[in-house]
This record gives sequence, structure tokens and C-alpha cells, in this order.
Amino acid sequence: LLEKWEINPSELTFMKELGSGQFGVVRFGKWRGQQRVAIKAIREGAMYEEDFIEEAKVMRLCHPRLVQLYGVCLQQRPLLIVAEFMENGCLLNFLRQRSRTLPESWLLSMCQDVCEGMDYLEGHSFIHRDLAARNCLINEYNVVKVSDFGMTYVLDNQYTSSIGAKFPVKWSPPEVLHYSKYSSKSDIWSYVVMWEIFSEGRTPFENRSNVEVVDDITRGIRLYRPQRASQPLYAIMYRCWHEVL
Ligand code: ADP
Repeated sequence: LLEKWEINPSELTFMKELGSGQFGVVRFGKWRGQQRVAIKAIREGAMYEEDFIEEAKVMRLCHPRLVQLYGVCLQQRPLLIVAEFMENGCLLNFLRQRSRTLPESWLLSMCQDVCEGMDYLEGHSFIHRDLAARNCLINEYNVVKVSDFGMTYVLDNQYTSSIGAKFPVKWSPPEVLHYSKYSSKSDIWSYVVMWEIFSEGRTPFENRSNVEVVDDITRGIRLYRPQRASQPLYAIMYRCWHEVL
């Protein structure tokens, strides 16, 4: 018997490869012959499978600014995650390749998209923990949606420990860096995404190592104003990096 959110793998058609990430390869495909979907195959050993399976049964977050999860295939390995297909791919790549030509009003509307998705998550007491442009996707209408709200299952120590090389230090507030204290407030700090959008996909604190950034942030140093951000706009992003005492 299939669980409520289980998809029968025989209803999936696999088409071209879209990319690969932390958990494995993502392919474009069709579900039931016509629904366009992205199918993520979870690499063995990349996740706590039991936790993931339990959570998949209840994880029913649904909002127009979140990448919709359609279902999962749990009866086989690799586990498959079937999600909404986002034509323009990863937001970070999009910013690097295309944002130069976009007017400021578009950049601002991208920021708003992210905010709406995050507002919904907070309203449902869900902490993302890894908001960044690399974890947002963009569709054919250039609507940005938040993705990868599943950091909890990551098995890679490099990613989950705040001293690990892959930990998102440059997107994290002092209380996460020092005490691993996550909250909706720490998610707001990660509106570093707004900085990424207005910097055309630059890396925050580009020439600083993670260790240096921990030191900078602790001493009150913050990201500079991106050229394309007005002063009032910069004031808004700056408020997201206010230290909670
Ligand atoms: P991971 O979370 O495992 O690191 P990602 O979710 O970043 O992997 O996926 C890797 C790549 O696959 C992305 O950079 C993007 O290009 C592509 N991709 C992932 N999900 C989708 C989707 N829903 N629609 C379109 N492309 C996607």
C-alpha cells in the first residue's frame, strides 16, 4: 500500500539531467505522462533515511513561493523526491548569468518572492536553516521560490557542523555560529539572499575565509552596500543583520 505522498515510480518518465547537488542527481521528467517534474535521486548515505521517510508523510507545506513537493518514491533505492519543475533553474546561476539586464524593480520582486515563501514557513513554525540563493529556484515567469527546506536530514558533517568547510557561515548569525541556536530569526539573517540578488550573484565576503567571517561578524562587521541597491534598500537588508543579544 502506498503512503499518501508516495508516487508510483512506474508513473515517472525520466528525461534529461538538470544538475547534481549535495544529495544526488536531479532529472527533468514527466509524471503520469504530462505533468512536468524535477526528480531528485537521493544518493545512498546522504540522508537519514528513516527520518526522511517519516517526515515525508507529514511534510505538506504548500505555498506559491515554495517549490512544491509532489511526492516521494520510498519502495526502492535510491529514494526519489518528485517536485515542481522550475524552468530557469538555480537562482544563483540565474543571477550570475542574467541579472545584469534586469531592472531594479525585478530584482526587488525576486526579494519579495523569497520573503513571502519564508513568511509562510515561519507561520508554520518551520525553520529553513539554509536559505541562500543557491537554494532558491526560478521558473519560466521569473518567479523565485524557496527550495531545499530539508537541511535536517543532511548526513554530511562538513555541512552540519559550524566549523565544517561547507557550513553556510556567510549566511549565518552569531548565535548560530557560536551556539547553533536556530530560529526564524536566524532565517531572517539569511536574507543575505537580498544582498546576493542585488550583487548579481556575487559571493558574500568574497575574499574572506569562513574563519575570518566568523571573526568579522562577531566584531560587528557587515556586508557592504551592493552597487545596484539604493540606500533605503540597503537599510532594509542591513536590519536583517542586527545581533540578537
Ligand atoms: P542539492 O539540494 O542536492 O544540493 P539541488 O536541489 O541544488 O541539489 O539541485 C541541483 C541542481 O539541479 C540545481 O542547481 C538545479 O539546476 C537543478 N534543480 C534542482 N531542483 C530543480 C527543480 N525543481 N526544477 C529545475 N531544476 C532543478
